[in-house]
Amino acid sequence: MNDHRNTSIKVPEHLAAPGAREICAILAAIATLPVNTPLQLMVKSPVLQKSLMTNLANQENIDWLDHPNRTLTRTLVAHLRKRCTLTTLTDTTKSADKRSTEHAINLAKEGIAKDTYNDIVVTIDAPHELSGTKLCVGTQHLFYKNIRIIQSKYKQCRQTNMNMAQALHAIGDLNNATPTSDQVWSSIQNKDIPKSIRGFLWKSLHGAYKIGKFWDNIPQYKIRGQCGLCRIPESMEHILLYCDESLASRVIWKAAKDLWLQRETSWPEIRFGTILGCNLITLRNTEGKTKVGATRLFKILVLESAHLIWKLRCERAIRFDGDKDKYHSETEIYNKWIHAINMRLKFDRLLTDSMRYGKRAAKIDLVLKTWSGLLKDEDKLPDNWIRQAGVLVGMTPRRPPGRTR
Ligand SMILES: [Zn+2]
Repeated sequence: MNDHRNTSIKVPEHLAAPGAREICAILAAIATLPVNTPLQLMVKSPVLQKSLMTNLANQENIDWLDHPNRTLTRTLVAHLRKRCTLTTLTDTTKSADKRSTEHAINLAKEGIAKDTYNDIVVTIDAPHELSGTKLCVGTQHLFYKNIRIIQSKYKQCRQTNMNMAQALHAIGDLNNATPTSDQVWSSIQNKDIPKSIRGFLWKSLHGAYKIGKFWDNIPQYKIRGQCGLCRIPESMEHILLYCDESLASRVIWKAAKDLWLQRETSWPEIRFGTILGCNLITLRNTEGKTKVGATRLFKILVLESAHLIWKLRCERAIRFDGDKDKYHSETEIYNKWIHAINMRLKFDRLLTDSMRYGKRAAKIDLVLKTWSGLLKDEDKLPDNWIRQAGVLVGMTPRRPPGRTR
């Protein structure tokens, strides 16, 4: 128990996943031993026990593609294979003595509290690296998954890096702490965001939409790279925020700010990076405590607004084919925005139904904190208005001009 090699480690964020800590601990322990020392591993996690024993062949056949700790487990297996003496595996619940377990738990707690992350080496020496999926056992889903992993490794293009830098910068400014790019990538998968917006964020971060520079190298279509309103080179940033001629951008961002200011005091500056990194932004009060409701509302307003501006731009450019008579009016844009926000409110209320959604149900308290203070005729609503019919945000759709009651 008092071995000088006992240590606490903090798992780097890019490797963090359920079960990662135990694998990192084993890798760190193995690194301190010569390869010819017999080794007895006490493994707690049933997933890891299976991965190293009964599931090993199956997982290797499919290149660990379905495994939550793919990189770490592959590394661990390679390191264990490199050892030239007996290695045994036992279950901690059956074999560990109580004092050793307590000591290990205390070290793990110290690891979590550490300020710096440990460097976990996940490179594998050539003879021990088994990579690729066996053709006879792979499915189409697995092959696509592998292709996506390979592409994301090698085709991180310049545009993506620039967008990521903007996201990191914007989040850093608002949170006073800059996240890692892996955190940004996983934040856009957050299930609290509607699927269509997750797709929009992913493509925007990758610069994958066919706008602006995409058309530069396509003869006869170069004009499509220009903004249909002001004729300067188009980009997602320009469409969402900086086109002076865009009525949608002007009306929608003003509406978002107006609704926000019904309850909150100041509307943060919206930059392209703020939109991309929105899911990692945490808003705090003057005492530094997280404003849970405001943080969530901010994400909803920013993402719904940006996504609507994009959808209206596509409708204008593709469906209306540049026909100015068909362009959306200020009233139409404003009403579409209110509709989008009311739909989010409606889905939030529906998703709190724990009978229907079980563990996946939204937390009632969080939904109340998100929307309270912004509702129509709220003084007539009960404090818990979740089950109340017809709850809407306190901004009324406008009537088109020329129509009377
Ligand atoms: Zn423009």
